Amino acid sequence: MKDCIFCKIAKKEIKSYILKENKFCLSFLDINPLTPGHTLVIPKKHKESFSDLTLQEAKGLFSLVKSLMKRMREKLKVGSFTLGVNDGDLSGQTIQHMHFHIIPRYPGDGGKSIHSIVKFPLGEPLEEIYKKLK
Ligand code: AMP
Ligand code: ZN
Repeated sequence: MKDCIFCKIAKKEIKSYILKENKFCLSFLDINPLTPGHTLVIPKKHKESFSDLTLQEAKGLFSLVKSLMKRMREKLKVGSFTLGVNDGDLSGQTIQHMHFHIIPRYPGDGGKSIHSIVKFPLGEPLEEIYKKLK
């Protein structure tokens, strides 16, 4: 997509610190890392949400996530990670080209767990949600 910074990175039109890629996906260092090694993995084609990815793209993305985690364990000596996607406006997605964050975690980094992101359990009982989603 024109004017999408991650499309430009995927096409190698602008500089980025590319780590690994495969046919469908590409990984590169986050320009403003939350911790050393913070990496983004994206589909090469412009897709806004993780749910828009083809199965091949999803497989390519997770293959990179898996191998990068292994590399980070070895080279950065990290044993913990926070993994995830800000998917959609309300989640805080700021670049509308889907990107998966790999955030290596360090002793004393001051960060919290996924459980600290949101707490809004109001509404239907679990049974009702289950009926909708099943
Ligand atoms: P999100 O809030 O999930 O949309 O995250 C967007 C991420 O993209 C942030 O962590 C930014 O630091 C990162 N980012 C923005 N521009 C670039 C860039 N040119 N190269 C690498 N990472 C970038
Ligand atoms: Zn894009």
